[in-house]
Amino acid sequence: MSTARLKINLEALAINWRNLDARTNCETAAVVKANGYGLDAARVGKTLADAGARNFFVAAAEEGIALRRAIGPGLGISVFSGHMPGDTKLLKDFQLTPMLNSLDQMLRHFESLPGHPFGIQLDTGMNRLGMEPGEWAAVRGIALAQSPVLIMSHLACSDSPDHGMNEHQLEMFTQMTEGADVPRSLSATGGLLLGPKYHFDLCRPGIGLYGGAPYDAALPVIELEVPVIQTRDLAPGETVGYGNAWTAQRPSRIATLAAGYADGLQRALQNRGIHAYSGAVPCPVVGRVSMDLVTVDISDLDHIPEALTLINESQTVETLATAAGTIGYEILTSLGHRYARTYSS
Ligand SMILES: *Cc1c(COP(=O)(O)O)cnc(C)c1O
Repeated sequence: MSTARLKINLEALAINWRNLDARTNCETAAVVKANGYGLDAARVGKTLADAGARNFFVAAAEEGIALRRAIGPGLGISVFSGHMPGDTKLLKDFQLTPMLNSLDQMLRHFESLPGHPFGIQLDTGMNRLGMEPGEWAAVRGIALAQSPVLIMSHLACSDSPDHGMNEHQLEMFTQMTEGADVPRSLSATGGLLLGPKYHFDLCRPGIGLYGGAPYDAALPVIELEVPVIQTRDLAPGETVGYGNAWTAQRPSRIATLAAGYADGLQRALQNRGIHAYSGAVPCPVVGRVSMDLVTVDISDLDHIPEALTLINESQTVETLATAAGTIGYEILTSLGHRYARTYSS
């Protein structure tokens, strides 16, 4: 078999949810958009439902289908993108709760699904989704009369605890929701970690559940083990890969591994101090990352390994993200479709 193995530790996922939940006195939901941050929304959802999560969030109504099938009826599934044209049947058939983002969406919802649960998303300064203060002021009475199940907003800078934007959005959210007798939610992972002022009635962490920053205490959830297809010995001066990007300075042994940028190992990882691990021994990734292959200097190993590990406790999703100049979210959601995923719980 020449496909890499992505091991997903569902127990670690559940522990991360419980530990985040323990930091608040409010409800803790779970964000499972983008197929559960690439790890399979159905399995992630089922695991977190068993751990005690009662509400889930997805980005698009379509993402609610597999999740609903996995967690069964009764638990809440909310949709950040609200009620888009064409969503009505999905929202109804799979009991999804749209977070309405505009007057347009509100009218569509009340007209096509009267009595169907909904929430409201407010824009408190991020300028991405949700009703702005003026629009909200105009429709607030009508919206509240229909009893939304949640009013939410989203923080733009919560991964920087000292950023003034956090306080600003908190104040905006408080003002815009004052006097509304409806459960409120402002915080994802970052906001949850900012402390109780930001918690309101429900927090909605995503990345922290999957082991990503800014939740530094998270348990790692994934491990990536990549088979060695071939090894070869190089004399000093010989080069490796496209563009001759790496030159052996000593007699070297190179292992070629079965994963590349088509599997989410970004080309930007070249020369960024990334390693492939044989047990605890780090071996440098050398040369360019190809579409389906990476090359590793295993000269210091005393054996030829069958596989090497690219994501583990020493080199986490965050390590790769920093090396590639991106964030853990992008590493997770780019994990290759070719990987054989195995789940342990
Ligand atoms: C993605 C998202 C979340 C979860 O954010 P994390 O940073 O992954 O915890 C919560 N709310 C909204 C509106 C989102 O788009």
